[in-house]
Amino acid sequence: MKPYRRRAVTCYENYPTRLVALNILEVLAAMAVGVIIIAHFGLGAALAYAALALLAVALSMAFGCTRCHYYGRLCGTGLGRIASLIFEKRDEEEFGSSFSQIVSWTLVGITLIVPIAAGVMALQDGVTSLHLLWLGAFLGLVAAIGVTHSKLVCSRCHQAKEKRCSLGRLGRSA
Ligand code: SF4
Repeated sequence: MKPYRRRAVTCYENYPTRLVALNILEVLAAMAVGVIIIAHFGLGAALAYAALALLAVALSMAFGCTRCHYYGRLCGTGLGRIASLIFEKRDEEEFGSSFSQIVSWTLVGITLIVPIAAGVMALQDGVTSLHLLWLGAFLGLVAAIGVTHSKLVCSRCHQAKEKRCSLGRLGRSA
């Protein structure tokens, strides 16, 4: 019997627009629900979270996308194209290893954790169906982003194929 050979998956140089739109919608919906959850602690907290999320995206473009193969191209999130309109290109060899990029990606991680922590704290003020609904919605969106990214984005990503992206290594089996 012939040994099982996994079919080579071609990487996208520019991702299909529908997939990019799906990715952007999921991220924007998660950010919006995150702001709603944090608004439980006041307008100031909600605005601070929105500013944190925008800062995380801006720094990811400035220090991550500028070092990425998809700089100037339509990547899975669309940021590669936007980053090329604002920031100068940097050295692709530094992708995933520069301190500035690690800081910006850590900030992205924090924007995903803060609404979950805030949602759990809000439950301590009294478990209401609305609190549970928004926290559940945020967790569902984060899961959807994880599935979309690993199954539809990272599996066709040049950075993951070149083993330059730690996140991508999760989405690609080979
Ligand atoms: S794949 Fe990631 S790092 Fe590369 S341009 Fe797109 S968002 Fe930026």
